Amino acid sequence: MPRPLPQLDELNRAFWTGGSAGRLMIMRCQSCAAYIHPPRPVCRTCLSEDVSPEAVSGTGVIDTFTINHQSWYPGLEAPYVIARVALDDAPGVILTSNIVNAPVEAVEFGDKVKVTFEQQDHIFIPLFEKIAD
Ligand SMILES: [Zn+2]
Repeated sequence: MPRPLPQLDELNRAFWTGGSAGRLMIMRCQSCAAYIHPPRPVCRTCLSEDVSPEAVSGTGVIDTFTINHQSWYPGLEAPYVIARVALDDAPGVILTSNIVNAPVEAVEFGDKVKVTFEQQDHIFIPLFEKIAD
């Protein structure tokens, strides 16, 4: 589905293009190992400027979600799920995204999910789908 696309800059480029290699890239402080999202030039934990993107596993858990029934722009199909996904191996990082490839009524709090990417132009949007368990 068509989406408004982000403006790429030096800080967020890895996040929005890592999907080209199938990788979810999260900014990480090289001094204290904290993850930083959205990407920033300075670690908010230790104030180090030694930050760089690293690949994470791309798995997580649905922290909370809402079902949107409004089509906010042409081509956006409703209903769809907007979820906050807590990443398994990036403590403190929660991505707001969509849950795809499942009926909206099948989505539950605490569901395990993994990242999948939707390419539009040169952007790879990280979306999530449920992991069968
Ligand atoms: Zn730090």
